[in-house]
Amino acid sequence: MKRFLIIALTVVTLGATAVAQKTIPHAVKTCNEVAARRTEIILPKVKGFNCYKGDFHIHTSYSDGSVTPAGRVVEAWMDGLDVIAITDHYESRSGERKFLKVIAPYSNDGEPIKYQPASKANCIMADFNAIHQEAVDQLKKSGYPMLLIKGCEMARNAETHGHFNALFLEDLNDLYDEDLTVAFRNVKARGGIIVHNHPAWRRKTSDKTEFHEQVYGEGLIDGVEVANGSTFYPHIVRRCIDEKLTMFGNTDEHTTTAHRFAPMGVYRTMTLIFAKELTEKAIKDAILKHRTIAYSGGSLIGEDSWLLELLNAAVDCRITKVDEKKGERTFLLINNSSITLRLRRGKTIYVLEPFKPVLATFGTDKQSGKLLNPTFVVDNMWGVDYKHPKAELEIDK
Ligand SMILES: [Zn+2]
Ligand SMILES: [Zn+2]
Repeated sequence: MKRFLIIALTVVTLGATAVAQKTIPHAVKTCNEVAARRTEIILPKVKGFNCYKGDFHIHTSYSDGSVTPAGRVVEAWMDGLDVIAITDHYESRSGERKFLKVIAPYSNDGEPIKYQPASKANCIMADFNAIHQEAVDQLKKSGYPMLLIKGCEMARNAETHGHFNALFLEDLNDLYDEDLTVAFRNVKARGGIIVHNHPAWRRKTSDKTEFHEQVYGEGLIDGVEVANGSTFYPHIVRRCIDEKLTMFGNTDEHTTTAHRFAPMGVYRTMTLIFAKELTEKAIKDAILKHRTIAYSGGSLIGEDSWLLELLNAAVDCRITKVDEKKGERTFLLINNSSITLRLRRGKTIYVLEPFKPVLATFGTDKQSGKLLNPTFVVDNMWGVDYKHPKAELEIDK
């Protein structure tokens, strides 16, 4: 009897385990997937144009960056950008050298394909169109409403020549020439534009060299980086205005923007482009007509007129109180943009954080006896000759 009981109990226990095993799922989600949280950067319409956020200077693991083209697309989208150009180096392709080493055991004869720098081989090894295509494929897969511009970077000696980006091209593989001027002419003949990058990099000045005088003089240069990464080149603002060139602010990202800009508490450096729509044609048109502002480390850099248009479009300024006895008016200022604006009046600083109201009281002009209008110096805007623009806010617009 006792033995029978033990057997019966064992059967019951095994049976219960079998039931339990059946009810335990084999794979469970630890959390539910939600849409990726992009950093939305809200900016107003300016003079009827949309304000798009772009970065026209980014590297990938195919030249000397550490992120793939697909990774760059995801990164730019998450950072709140609308348009980017991946601009890998023709001449510095340490990534390609590494790939060739990795695939060497799988080549037919076990010998790696020899890496040939462009300068030595007078040719390019990498298929630069394929690099762009990788980014295009990722964009299609992700479905982000972002625009990709085809580009590359050409470089020579920093002291005498420097680095330049070629943008808005169909074919990146037929531009290279040992003679940089000839390469520039190739870009222009194919409808591309050329941007002079980081003009004071590895030099003590941002002034033009003999080579620059020649290529600028020939009309081959369309724009200059007034900001690259976290560096601002103040002299370049005047050059752009005087010579009708477009101002750019780009990251020149080689690592990741999360690692480089996020710890500083700033958005990645970018170019704000005032265009009708997010198409290659409209963005190119805006660039050729110099409708840009560079944004870097919380500072806006550009032509005074565009800076002030942006300020007035972003700030809502209303009269909230009039004290006739004291001859004072109090204004309510609301910054309807994601960019913090720092306004100064004498020694008083008004920090207009995004979407937060600020009050400012203005009295009467002693000489004219007229009520003073809300006029400020904009501390985080830089115009020509390293100066802050002075702004009068539009009232009750
Ligand atoms: Zn460069
Ligand atoms: Zn670069």
